[in-house]
Amino acid sequence: MKKEDKKHPLVNYKNLITRRYFLNISTKGIGLLFGAGLLGTSILKATPFASLENKLLKNNEYPFKLGVASGDPEEDGFVIWTRLIKDVRLPNGAIPDNSQLVNWEIATDESFSNIVQSGKTNTNPFWAHSVHIEVNGLEPSSYYYYRFKTKSFDSPVGKSKTTPVSNDKLDKLNFAILSCQSYLGGYYTAHEHLAEENLDVVLFLGDYIYEFKGNEGVGGRIHHPHILLETLEDYRLRYAQYKSDPSLQNIHAAFPWLVTFDDHEVRNNWGGENDEKSLNRQAAAFKAYYEHMPVRKSAIPNDYHIQIYRKCSYGDLVDFNILDTRQFRSKPACGSNQTENCQDRNDPFRTIFGEQQEEWLFNNLKTSTKRWNILANQVLMAYIDNQQGPGTKVGIDKWDGFVSSRDRLFSTIIENNIKNVVVLTGDSHKNWVIDLKEDFNQPQSRTIATEFGGTSLTSGGNGTKKYGGDIMAENPHIKYASNRRGYVKCTLTPERMQADFRTVEYVDRKGAPISTEASFYVKNNEPGAIRLS
Ligand code: FE
Ligand code: CA
Repeated sequence: MKKEDKKHPLVNYKNLITRRYFLNISTKGIGLLFGAGLLGTSILKATPFASLENKLLKNNEYPFKLGVASGDPEEDGFVIWTRLIKDVRLPNGAIPDNSQLVNWEIATDESFSNIVQSGKTNTNPFWAHSVHIEVNGLEPSSYYYYRFKTKSFDSPVGKSKTTPVSNDKLDKLNFAILSCQSYLGGYYTAHEHLAEENLDVVLFLGDYIYEFKGNEGVGGRIHHPHILLETLEDYRLRYAQYKSDPSLQNIHAAFPWLVTFDDHEVRNNWGGENDEKSLNRQAAAFKAYYEHMPVRKSAIPNDYHIQIYRKCSYGDLVDFNILDTRQFRSKPACGSNQTENCQDRNDPFRTIFGEQQEEWLFNNLKTSTKRWNILANQVLMAYIDNQQGPGTKVGIDKWDGFVSSRDRLFSTIIENNIKNVVVLTGDSHKNWVIDLKEDFNQPQSRTIATEFGGTSLTSGGNGTKKYGGDIMAENPHIKYASNRRGYVKCTLTPERMQADFRTVEYVDRKGAPISTEASFYVKNNEPGAIRLS
């Protein structure tokens, strides 16, 4: 934990902490937020890892109010996370400004009768009293339980799982992709259903928080602090608000996560800025991100940079290449979000992930020994023409704004005959199944990979069942599009990758049941999606 004590050499966080929050928050807001949302009558379904009972949430001294989490699984371990916080409304969380002793334990059983590892750590207020323990020395492909203790308090119990030994035969992997959980957009009903799925790992593809001030959301919810986020304290408070939701805590406690961010963890559609104000804001956002995510020390922000792109493998079955298509991208092409006739987007020097990450990804693909090569991606990779009839209109915040990056990726796949590339994408608040074509303007051209886009958990509100009749006519490579909230459950075997689009009909009220609105699969060695139901 030595590195954690190192002060940031360039970024002066003190200067980033300038706000007086409580001038900005109405009494009504606090009452609604922490009455209806957090402490109210919302009853969680009882699952083995239901994080916090209401009595703990109401206890002023209880310091684990954001629950626990695990992530970045490897063959012999994973990261376990928590953050000490007694009052989620306060910038310092009502934790004293000196280090606090936290004990941790790993057991093979839920009742902790067989504790296999334990240790202690001292929190640091510089890192918001967050705790990241990299546990190792565990058995591969095994479930473990973990918990923390400080003073007389025990944290909720989390469950995690190690990966198989690299290249060992693996017959099946169950996982889900999640994105876009605006706290204002809807209740975390899909999260409650996800907790009941049988999963080895969860991938979060971006928009864990939203940075904007926002209007009143479901149930009278308002964003806390009720401002546009800019400083480190702003971001910390927003994470504390989102993470105080018991349904979100529940799915962190139930499965290990692999996380990456998109735009709203920093600012709407950010990317390519290098002025001091933007960089300071990014630094603040990255630091708060690290403090609240179950990620390894390799993701400790360094000046204005955070290392979030990385690889995670499961046996001989799959490499997850977790991408960062925000931090190293070129400036937006042609200025606006959607544009016609934007030639700038074709500029060969434009990049969506920077030279180093591109080399890293292409090398991973070329040297992969796994059956499946999955890209955990933020924004839609496929070409999509949003204009009906003649002419084209594309979104330049997506890969369509970085055509040469996409061309280089596709050439790498084709020239090296790389099999079984599947792209999993968040951001769009829609479900998508898309064949990635060698030439999107030639419907008959080869399909070289498949993209599954996952809808939002809540962002955008209830949505509608039907989406994209016209968009599918305009873009024959799109096999499916819908506009409900939920997540995508994926089942991977050596023979196929299946995606079940699990959705709820509404998020503006609690209690919606979940169902599978469609299932598609890709066969081994045959790129292109096939509808199952
Ligand atoms: Fe979003
Ligand atoms: Ca987004």
